[in-house]
Amino acid sequence: MRFSVRSMTVLFLTCLLYTTGCASEDATSNVPESTPVNPFDLPGNWYKANFHAHTTTSDGDVDLPTRVEQYKGAGYSILTVTDHEKTNDVTPFNTNDFLLISGMETHPASPNPDMRFHFVCLNVPLGLSFTKETGAEERIKTVLGKGGYVIAAHPYWCGFTIEELYPLKAYGVNAMEVYNATCRFCGRDVSSVHWDELLAKGWRLPALAVDDVHNDSSLHVGWTWVRAEALTLDAIMAALKSGAFYASMGPEFKDVRIQDGVVKVECSPVVKIQFFANAPNGMQMLAKDAPLTMASFEPKKKLTYVRVEITDANGKVAWSPALYF
Ligand SMILES: [Zn+2]
Ligand SMILES: [Zn+2]
Repeated sequence: MRFSVRSMTVLFLTCLLYTTGCASEDATSNVPESTPVNPFDLPGNWYKANFHAHTTTSDGDVDLPTRVEQYKGAGYSILTVTDHEKTNDVTPFNTNDFLLISGMETHPASPNPDMRFHFVCLNVPLGLSFTKETGAEERIKTVLGKGGYVIAAHPYWCGFTIEELYPLKAYGVNAMEVYNATCRFCGRDVSSVHWDELLAKGWRLPALAVDDVHNDSSLHVGWTWVRAEALTLDAIMAALKSGAFYASMGPEFKDVRIQDGVVKVECSPVVKIQFFANAPNGMQMLAKDAPLTMASFEPKKKLTYVRVEITDANGKVAWSPALYF
């Protein structure tokens, strides 16, 4: 999302800048299909991460050292700084217990003439830049070719249709945001329907939660738990590429798996557990006398995917990784 801290006038101008596109592109590349891992099958540690953040390098309200302190001080292990079309030198901020990953949010034209894509790119080289005319496929190819990672940001806020999003599979987009805290100010923070539609079409796409922080109003609202053996750039990038993570605003998953055709979940105390799968299949459990900490769902039909959402008493949600039959 694009946000200005100075005035609504500037906000409207910057929104306009990133919402107008031109030509559409066809899917031409062929990225091999891979099935994301189940992070609950893996050894290692859980690292708390925000992969979408802005600073005064673009339209954020604080400089990079301050942004780093805001996340480090709140117990995060990983932050990616993703200013609009600009990179930051992250090397001075990396320590044994905190990983700052380079990034950029880039805005190529989309098939929708009124909205450019918002791609959050991780692990990009310092100084990376694109011309305004550089298309989505070429930008993604460049980032992936340099060892980076591409996230389709806030598709609901952008207003993209599934037909506009699905071609990004062939371009090699790695993940999407199922939750973007800053977009809640437009009521468009949750993109779970887009996620379900893409999963049902066969795109085994992992999803993250992010702050997309521009100012204090969206600090520490949505984050991603990454399962990795070590807090190193190589280990975290490998974990991201394998899909070893899940999204949360607070509740925690202890375990999610498919065992003998039954989907089982264990979690921190919540008031609602929901299973989502190929339409119209799914199930909801509501707490009665005591909070829920486990549930199971046995599909009656042949499904391709299932995922779980848990909601705590404060209305905070976590989204499990999608699992595949
Ligand atoms: Zn954006
Ligand atoms: Zn953003």
